[in-house]
Amino acid sequence: MKILVTGGTGYIGSNVAVQLLESGYDVIVLDSLSNSKSSVVERIKRITRKNLTFFKGDIRDKSLLDGIFKKNTIHAVMHFAGLKSVADSETNPLDYYATNVAGTVTLIESMLFANVKKIIFSSSATVYGDNGLIEHSETSPLNPINVYGKTKFIVEGMLKEIRSGNPSFTYAALRYFNPVGAHCSGLLGEDPKNKPNNLMPILANVATGRQKELSIYGNDYNTPDGTCLRDYIHVTDLAAGHIAALEKIIQTKTTFTVNLGTGKPHSVRELIKTFELVSGKKITFKYAQRRKGDLDQYFANPNEAERLLAWTAKLDLFRMCEDVWRWQQLQQSGL
Ligand code: NAD
Ligand code: UDP
Repeated sequence: MKILVTGGTGYIGSNVAVQLLESGYDVIVLDSLSNSKSSVVERIKRITRKNLTFFKGDIRDKSLLDGIFKKNTIHAVMHFAGLKSVADSETNPLDYYATNVAGTVTLIESMLFANVKKIIFSSSATVYGDNGLIEHSETSPLNPINVYGKTKFIVEGMLKEIRSGNPSFTYAALRYFNPVGAHCSGLLGEDPKNKPNNLMPILANVATGRQKELSIYGNDYNTPDGTCLRDYIHVTDLAAGHIAALEKIIQTKTTFTVNLGTGKPHSVRELIKTFELVSGKKITFKYAQRRKGDLDQYFANPNEAERLLAWTAKLDLFRMCEDVWRWQQLQQSGL
């Protein structure tokens, strides 16, 4: 079975592409390379010793998409392509609606034109936003508080409505919590083109000396050590959740929305301590003002994913840091 992976040279898409190939699927990657490098394709091949087809292009390019669907018998689409910075989404909202919403419309139009009716969509815990809860199950109220979260919320709603009008259209919307970690080979990890905003890549930059110190955004939160708690999930576990979701929609043609998280949150200070332990490096940090929009804590209730997909996250914080550190060291050595 051939799977089209949009955004497949990106952080999560590349790790999923590896597991798809290892699970016996054929893979076609479509990526604009706006936030990734073409060398990722060779790395995926190197890890899996399998071939894949790569198209450089934009999900908003309807004729390119129509051509890909026409020339290939595609069984399902895994849709990772999109923009993902919360801060950037507030400054450049139109880019986020154009890529994340309109791009998904174009992709699905092209899929349906080619009679391809299965899609796995990268959603996000940001759809819960500020809903007054700290543990989110899939039925928790949705209240996205930034443009990025709103684009995910809109696409989830759109998928539901397309399904209502067309019962043979099948989708899985996967709400990721905080993906971190890297492939155990050290060859695939988070490699943003712009300055990172997320905690783990910044921690890694401080450990490697690329950044002088880490600013902890607030130590007066209502948490045990005063710093925020998040549900960090290893990208390898996250990728396994995608394979389980794909198999579920292929076998049962059911449609579902599930959280992919561990259910076990960790604080910023815990992350720093674990990274220091793994790397043997001192992480210099200072306390800074709270970041606008940050919540004390939130985490997944992962029970639905376990019930539906027989999937649970297995890799712990130590392993997340260990794999990021290996990836960073290999990157630095220019491999
Ligand atoms: P990423 O930026 O590493 O990967 C996204 C890929 O999409 C990049 O390779 C980029 O070049 C490509 N892309 C962007 N716009 C495109 C376009 N118009 N056409 C074709 N390709 C395009 O990001 P990621 O962390 O791998 O995230 C993948 C998906 O998961 C995104 O949709 C993101 O919103 C979602 N998500 C990510 C996180 C996270 O923390 N990483 C959390 C929740 C949800
Ligand atoms: N954080 C921090 N310093 C940084 C980046 C992040 O203290 O330089 C904190 C941030 O306030 C949050 C946690 O780390 O509490 C996770 O932030 P990230 O941006 O990685 O994820 P998100 O907040 O989107 O869940």
